[in-house]
Amino acid sequence: MSLQELDRKLVWHPFTYQKNADYNLLITRAEGAWLYDDRGNKYLDAISSWWVNLHGHGHPLIAEAIYAQAKKLEHIIFAGFTHEPAVRLAEKLIKLLPGDFSKIFYSDNGSTSTEVALKMSVQYWWNKGIKKKKILAFRNSYHGDTFGAMSVSDRGVFTLAFHDLLFEVLFIDTPTPENIGDLKAIVHKEAKDLACFIYEPLVQGAGGMKMYDADLMNELLNTVKLNDIICIADEVMTGFGRTGKFFASEYMHKKPDIICLSKGITGGFMAMGVTACTERIYQAFLDDDKMKTFFHGHSYTANPLACAAAVASLELLETEPSISAIEKIEACNKAFQKKLRSSTLPIRNIRSMGTILAFELDSGLDEYLNTSGVSVGKAAMENGLYIRPLGNTVYIMPPYCVNENDLNFIYENILELVAR
Ligand code: PMP
Repeated sequence: MSLQELDRKLVWHPFTYQKNADYNLLITRAEGAWLYDDRGNKYLDAISSWWVNLHGHGHPLIAEAIYAQAKKLEHIIFAGFTHEPAVRLAEKLIKLLPGDFSKIFYSDNGSTSTEVALKMSVQYWWNKGIKKKKILAFRNSYHGDTFGAMSVSDRGVFTLAFHDLLFEVLFIDTPTPENIGDLKAIVHKEAKDLACFIYEPLVQGAGGMKMYDADLMNELLNTVKLNDIICIADEVMTGFGRTGKFFASEYMHKKPDIICLSKGITGGFMAMGVTACTERIYQAFLDDDKMKTFFHGHSYTANPLACAAAVASLELLETEPSISAIEKIEACNKAFQKKLRSSTLPIRNIRSMGTILAFELDSGLDEYLNTSGVSVGKAAMENGLYIRPLGNTVYIMPPYCVNENDLNFIYENILELVAR
């Protein structure tokens, strides 16, 4: 039996319609922005492998950092023990984070980073003896696949089977010039019950790369903060340069109290989640009463290999080539956006921010089950381009190692594919 046949027999893949599914492609290696399969084909990874890869696949500095760490200490329980990579990473993150953060709590993926943030916020008020436990979130949001993360995510196809089991959340639209007054009024009205507000700053990723205005978001955050509601920025996707700044929260003056990170944090090498909080949040857990402890942790909390990868990835990000690479992608995307806007292609809502560019195919409703994107994605693979449209939303979010030739390859293919 071939590996692909064995895979079909034994393995269940994520977010994959299993019945009549095509064989999963067998990737044998990857280097830079390119993926190579067992048949000698190559594909440009224009979505950074579900948005995790930052510097390109197989970056030697990160690979070496993991190897060096593995020879010293691969993993230990993180309760009662610490280790150098975890401390060094915390030190680096605290310096870089947008706001007044003082503590780093480690976990192992994006969903756990948001679960931790929600639990920290709810318990913050519980520890203080104040009855505030409702959560405010945006419609069309996505914060992960575990139950708490699903609860604060938009109610849609991903969550349909679980609706009766999800906790109640107050959902509001992302801000527009037309609705900002209403949004602020809702926040004022509900404030006494609201423990926290969780949001994907400026770009709603899995919801279809929907973008919204920073000034209006700042206005909304101002109202939320005035009402003493904990602000949780879910930067799992937007972190580490994707939106053109190191963190999307830097576009707003009003900063979060808690921030969630994952995906790009290790450059795409290891699974890791981070939830950072301010000193004010942390202080509510310091008490003689042991019941005020944060009873949360995962076996692989602060895995040393993941921490070592993250430290190496941050060092790469801080250096000039990464920063200028992000600026270059941003400039090229803007020029391509202009070209798309002046074209007569059957597409709508062309937008870009930092290294992300997106638009909708002009075919039916904007929804995840719209299959027009699947056809474009399949045709792209035949041309050697890997994109994975979300419903009819086509987007790109390449790793920062792409050069101008790679970007032109992406753009030319997109022009040709949507014109078909
Ligand atoms: N938050 C956001 C904003 C995300 O985009 C994602 C993943 N797409 C998650 C949370 C969940 O991350 P993970 O898939 O690592 O659980």
